[in-house]
Amino acid sequence: MKKNTLCVHAGGYQDPNTSGLSTPIFTSSAYNYLDNPKQPYPRYFNTPNQEAVAAKLAALEGAEAAMVFSSGMAAISTTLLSLLKSGDHIVLQNELYGGTFNLVAKEFSRQNIDYTLTATHADAVIEAINKNTRVIYLESPTNPLLTIVDIRRITGVAIKKGITTVIDNTFASPINQNPLNLGVDIVLHSGTKYLAGHSDLCCGVVASNQSYITQLHQTAVNFGGSMDSNSCSLLERSLKTLSLRVERQCSNALSLAKYLETLSGVSKVFYPGLESSPYHSIAKSQMHGFGGMLAFELAADISPEIFLKKLKLISPALSLGGIESTICSPAATSHLKMSQDQREAIGITDAILRLSVGIEDIEDLQQDIAQALN
Ligand SMILES: *Cc1c(COP(=O)(O)O)cnc(C)c1O
Repeated sequence: MKKNTLCVHAGGYQDPNTSGLSTPIFTSSAYNYLDNPKQPYPRYFNTPNQEAVAAKLAALEGAEAAMVFSSGMAAISTTLLSLLKSGDHIVLQNELYGGTFNLVAKEFSRQNIDYTLTATHADAVIEAINKNTRVIYLESPTNPLLTIVDIRRITGVAIKKGITTVIDNTFASPINQNPLNLGVDIVLHSGTKYLAGHSDLCCGVVASNQSYITQLHQTAVNFGGSMDSNSCSLLERSLKTLSLRVERQCSNALSLAKYLETLSGVSKVFYPGLESSPYHSIAKSQMHGFGGMLAFELAADISPEIFLKKLKLISPALSLGGIESTICSPAATSHLKMSQDQREAIGITDAILRLSVGIEDIEDLQQDIAQALN
């Protein structure tokens, strides 16, 4: 089956009592273990609602198995701390989601896990590998500048050296990119973004082969970052329209990126779908779509703060991937904890804004940007 069909039909739960078409919400945290030898328990990640939505997610990523977590960071921290032990080394890109950067900077040093942050391109990542490297951690497209890394080139080297590759696939979503097909071992998502898609749910996902999922499961049970049945049900419902939403978000983002390029109030546009993007051809070779995220730099004579205040439709908001368009200043929000020098080293100036394009009519989005610039 293909993506639209998988969104609707994969996973789920067939209720033998009512023959209802959608998965019921099982609120129980206690199950009779004599009658149900599986012994479901929410923190074991094996309740009917957890399994129903995890199966849909596994199908969408082309994975053997998946697990849902109570946040993206629960999925990320559980995965990394399950793979790494004291003395091990991990390679990450310095253009990293802010929360992951903090996890590494604060927690890894305390665990005596060694790390190297590299520039966001395959050569730099490969060069940083040393004899203790156990994990390579990727993001592509990156936050907030939508840099694309050559995933196949990195996994080609990692496979030869027996290094586990992990990717945060949040920005692409499983509709636009399936990293397991590019040789990656483990795919992570902040489900809070595109998967949930309505800015009303916090969750995370891990998808991989059965042997990695079995290993991660043991750590996950100890860390306890599981998701409750009501949230699983909301996520499962949201996933049924994932492909429709993301398709519209991609086409709106491309139109908006082209429009922004024509405006004198905008000095630079970052979007891998633009033919002018240095990452266009590599994006085309490993993605099915270019995504709903873009970034742009305001001209020097325009105040980012005043521009954001003048927007009427597009909301300044921290999260992304929702059906409504949102915008933020990475320097003032997601990357605030980095020093100005650290930010500028990776190209994040104060004039750069990150836009998460929603499913509204494109004319209304263009109009909102035009009136705010004026
Ligand atoms: C939001 C986000 C996360 C963290 O997810 P939470 O659900 O907030 O814990 C991780 N990676 C990326 C790329 C994100 O955008």
